Amino acid sequence: MEHKKIIIAIDGYSSTGKSTMAKKLARQVGYRYIDSGAMYRAVALYALRHGMADTVGSVDEARLTAALPGIAIDFKVTPDGQRTMLNGEDVENEIRSMTVSQAVSPVAAVAAVRHAMTDLQQQMGREKGIVMDGRDIGTTVFPDAEMKVFVTASAETRARRRFDELKAKNMNAGYDEVLANLRERDHIDETRAESPLRKAADAFMLDNSDMTLDEQDALLLRIFNERTR
Ligand code: C5P
Repeated sequence: MEHKKIIIAIDGYSSTGKSTMAKKLARQVGYRYIDSGAMYRAVALYALRHGMADTVGSVDEARLTAALPGIAIDFKVTPDGQRTMLNGEDVENEIRSMTVSQAVSPVAAVAAVRHAMTDLQQQMGREKGIVMDGRDIGTTVFPDAEMKVFVTASAETRARRRFDELKAKNMNAGYDEVLANLRERDHIDETRAESPLRKAADAFMLDNSDMTLDEQDALLLRIFNERTR
């Protein structure tokens, strides 16, 4: 049976397993996966490198806004999976560091940064058949997305997951630092003026604190099948 192609928007809090879930769903349904957070992280890395942002939350908005036309972000598909590219350089590993995590939310709150990334994301979704995860995909980037999921879990559950992930990659960070960073990012993301993190009215609310990955996958596929029928 021929299914119609749709846009799948997966939004929610940090470290809810959104990207793992979005990636897997994309693979299962044969769609392209786009990590919008990686795009904001790449801008944050650029800003850090050029002294336009630091890890304690200050951002030189005017300089960063002026620099935006010179910041090219895209994704390269490799045998190691998708890599985030900043002006042609593979920055996939670097953008996951604690330093970038500390700088990203204030950078992502800059209106001009959001407008530039939103434009880019909308271009990427022009032909549908994509799964995009982030904070404002179902509310701002693709308000007409056919399938929207809003993912949440307790802060402690999320910090534990993020901590284990960093440890597995030998990236040093303490649990308390991870939890504090997560709470800080949640707060900035929820309270910014420009497209704050919030659930779209028509998004499916998924709290996965006590859900197995199999249960979650089955649920997502069921929603996908309903929306593409
Ligand atoms: O998804 P991830 O945690 O990698 O995103 C990093 C940060 O980028 C978030 O904390 C948020 O500040 C910002 N972001 C955003 N809008 C998106 C995706 C991410 O503001 N659509």
